[in-house]
Amino acid sequence: MTVHTGRHFLQIPGPTNVPDRVLRAMDMPTMDHRGPEFAEVGHAVLAAMQRVFRTKQPVIIYPSSGTGAWEAALVNTLQPGDKVLMAETGQFAVLWHGIADKFKLDVDFIPGDWRHGAELEQIEARLLADKAHKIKAVCVVHNETSTGCVTHPQDVRKILDRVNHPALLMVDTISGLGSLEYEHDAWGIDVSVAGSQKGLMLPPGLGFNAISEKALAVAKANPAMRSYWDWQEVIAINKAGTWPYTPATNLLFGLREAVKMLEEEGLENVFARHKRHSAATRAAIRVWGLETQCQEQGAHSPALTGVVMPEGHDADNFRKVVLENFDMSLGTGLNKIKGKVFRIGHIGHFNDLMMMGTLSGVEMGLDLAKVPHRGGGVLAAMEVLKGRDVVAMPKA
Ligand code: PLP
Repeated sequence: MTVHTGRHFLQIPGPTNVPDRVLRAMDMPTMDHRGPEFAEVGHAVLAAMQRVFRTKQPVIIYPSSGTGAWEAALVNTLQPGDKVLMAETGQFAVLWHGIADKFKLDVDFIPGDWRHGAELEQIEARLLADKAHKIKAVCVVHNETSTGCVTHPQDVRKILDRVNHPALLMVDTISGLGSLEYEHDAWGIDVSVAGSQKGLMLPPGLGFNAISEKALAVAKANPAMRSYWDWQEVIAINKAGTWPYTPATNLLFGLREAVKMLEEEGLENVFARHKRHSAATRAAIRVWGLETQCQEQGAHSPALTGVVMPEGHDADNFRKVVLENFDMSLGTGLNKIKGKVFRIGHIGHFNDLMMMGTLSGVEMGLDLAKVPHRGGGVLAAMEVLKGRDVVAMPKA
């Protein structure tokens, strides 16, 4: 067995690295989740998540993975037979579609090549053709974690408004929230779906919905069966800072600390940092002579970058070489791009030197795995990072 020293590099696009401050905040005795001390935490995290989603509307925090929050968005607002428009941006769009199928929703799945954001022209055409307003919801994945392509939800809102279509706009921002700009209210999102283990820098275990007034009204009138995911009871009980069931108390301590960290840095700075790291990663990939999975200008994810392996070279073999030699986990290619793509996560609790370490591990791994490439990618990334505003040096 190889013994590794120093810290493991967890450079998958979620779960992401959890800051020590957040770990310590969670390292608490369990407490009475119906007592006054906990209610304070409950109120604090609900308000904190409204600030992160940038909403004044209710936010639900479930003890669940992101998949649960996906399901919650669908079962609260839709019933079997309802027509839904979804866009195949990658594996996570495929999985959300799969859930919709299980609930017998009638999904129009706009095909995509997994190298672009959602096809906006197609969305517009489908909505325009739907004169009877049979489409009840448009669902898009903000940051497609399987490919590294972004769909800008505000563009979808503009389309809905332009064609005057009343469908709800539902957005999976599971790997977007806390790393890319996100404006639940200003962008007119009806249901936002998020999870704890990405930009929020927490372990997995919390799922989130942010809900517009319109979505809440639709949910109130929706007779479809649901219980655990039902928004209304949670919202009512949340008013007292507690939940209808046992919440994930220690994760909520961590959430309070994580949002504090994001706000200390300033959300705008957090977003800018992710963009810089994404630009540095792409500079390295360009020099290596490799391709990014995302092929759309303006759609490159600030949170992760998918890298296409040259023909005849297996991405998972390369990942294995990197893991064994440098103790770094890179993201695997999912579904139809398995073996063809690996993913570099530059999301969450991350900084310039972690970025350089990550890219060094990739460049050394390319050498060891004998993947054809040009050297010097790390240097190119360093040039991008040097472009930061440097702290003024004192005069000699
Ligand atoms: N949607 C996106 C964009 C994701 O990245 C993920 C997980 O990586 C999910 C949904 C599913 O979330 P979970 O694995 O927490 O259920």
